[in-house]
Amino acid sequence: MNPAEWLARTARSVPEAPALFRGARVVADYAGFARRAAGIGAALAARGIGPGDRVAIFLPNSVDYLPILYGILWAGATAVPINGKLHAKEAGWIVEHSATKFVFTGDAALSEACGLPCVDPATEAFAEMQGTPGLEAPCPMAGSDAAWLFYTSGTTGRPKGAVLTCGNVMAASLAYLADVDDVAREDAALYAAPMSHGAGLYNFIHVLRGARHVVPESGGFDPAEIMGLAAELGNISMFAAPTMVKRLVDFAQRSGADGAGIKTIVYGGGPMYVADIQAALKVFGPKFVQIYGQGEAPMTITALSRQDIADSDHPDWLRRLASVGKAHSVAEVRVLGEDGTPLPPGQIGEIAVRGPQVMQGYLDNPDANAKALRDGWLWTGDLGQLDENGYLTLHDRAKDLVISGGSNIYPREVEEALLTHPEVSEVSVVGAPDPEWGEIVVAFVVASGATPPETAALDAACTALIARFKKPKRYVFVKDLPKNNYGKVLKTELRERLAAMAV
Ligand code: ATP
Repeated sequence: MNPAEWLARTARSVPEAPALFRGARVVADYAGFARRAAGIGAALAARGIGPGDRVAIFLPNSVDYLPILYGILWAGATAVPINGKLHAKEAGWIVEHSATKFVFTGDAALSEACGLPCVDPATEAFAEMQGTPGLEAPCPMAGSDAAWLFYTSGTTGRPKGAVLTCGNVMAASLAYLADVDDVAREDAALYAAPMSHGAGLYNFIHVLRGARHVVPESGGFDPAEIMGLAAELGNISMFAAPTMVKRLVDFAQRSGADGAGIKTIVYGGGPMYVADIQAALKVFGPKFVQIYGQGEAPMTITALSRQDIADSDHPDWLRRLASVGKAHSVAEVRVLGEDGTPLPPGQIGEIAVRGPQVMQGYLDNPDANAKALRDGWLWTGDLGQLDENGYLTLHDRAKDLVISGGSNIYPREVEEALLTHPEVSEVSVVGAPDPEWGEIVVAFVVASGATPPETAALDAACTALIARFKKPKRYVFVKDLPKNNYGKVLKTELRERLAAMAV
């Protein structure tokens, strides 16, 4: 079934329900939202675009995003959402790789370079598309048809295009409803993170439920604006990467805001350190759900529930806060040894997942497919361990593991330990080649004050919590950490910097 059918149904059952908001202002109800999508779908069909074709969206978050996404689906085509913060050249690479036929973008450099028909939502041509008559209902699509070509954020190399089918998207959406947030009509999805990524995928369940969709005026993440919108609109649910949660907490602490209008903050996509989630709970209360997922299994493989996060009386509370929760309702999760044997609880191996949300495969990438999809399982490239109750603790990307003197050291443990030092604001740990040890642990540290903390004090923070051999052999103090557009630390770049420093 075509996910756009969810929009058509909601528009029939609650046509006047407010649907799209620019800041706190309603710009369309569900009837208007569906009309725009149908118009865009008809306009694309009139240009010969339909099933099997790909249409890219290279835009920042805006109220036009969802009508465009649904317009593409309405025509039976596949959407290729591209992070609007990418450079035009990076976007151009994705457009070319995906063999896109049409692009929605306001970026002149991409429009000129790609040689494809492009429409800028700020122009009259777009308004005309939205008004095109002709496609009353979404084009039928099968569960196995591609709905969304999801480009990974590229923290480990070039982005890979995960082909997500209509079935994948719908299974992931229904599991979200069951395990993450019981979305209701009075809720509002607030898009503070790029709609081209996980945050955008959450729209489907909010459409099915007839909830509101709020795009901040700034189009991005401004804590003051988010807190203002939450207070004004109420019942806000949002996805926030851990760095965004931290900024919201800082803002609330400075301004005295309590986040009363926030219903749920879903966090994930990168490590949330225990001290940070504890601080967030103190400020906002029990509103958090953690997800662990990837574009290849959008966006939830496991979830740490609101109850687990809030239950500070539970003897396992801190251990659970450091975990990413349990397999969500449509996912089977295993931890596998190198030969594919499932490992018992407590042993560390590669996390694998199987279920109806798992991608069909990467587009035109047989090597990556052979590595990631084996025996019906998606090998995530992440290392982790299950406990006897099914809670999964994520260690690190297999590529980020440091092997020093023959011992495995998981950067995350070292990062958690260093973050307990009050003068450490951010930290990232990587391995550097070393003739004696094979690799040594190096910590890149961002100090919270003007002067860096004493390295002896950092060592002490480590040895208070982890084995001596795991403490960094070297500290590099930096003003900030290199991050990609999703706020993820680029460890590859840190390793490159170390290599350059060694020359
Ligand atoms: P690429 O695959 O191109 O390197 P990427 O890893 O950033 O990019 P995404 O799909 O954007 O691809 O991100 C998924 C990854 O993010 C996961 O495989 C995992 O490493 C990390 N991640 C996701 N959720 C969490 C979480 N809750 N805690 C820690 N890490 C997480």
